[in-house]
Amino acid sequence: MDINAPRYTEETVAHEHLESLNWPDGPFCPHCGSFNSTRLGGTHHRKGLVQCNDCRQQYTLTVPTSAGQGASAIWLEAAQAWVCEAWAA
Ligand SMILES: [Zn+2]
Repeated sequence: MDINAPRYTEETVAHEHLESLNWPDGPFCPHCGSFNSTRLGGTHHRKGLVQCNDCRQQYTLTVPTSAGQGASAIWLEAAQAWVCEAWAA
């Protein structure tokens, strides 16, 4: 296996790994909860973009849910808390 092949780049692997963790049964629409979706490929779309076949909205794994930007802020706080704990230990 050539690990330098484009399909094995770090970003791709990380993205696919995240998808497999969060979408074990395939893309899951955060808007209506449907598994009925189409992956949008090509250079005109963002990487990992998926369109829901039911509500027609587009999303990616990282598109915020109803929590909006708060989701990433919470994650950041958790990461900072972990760092603080690591220092205190
Ligand atoms: Zn949907």
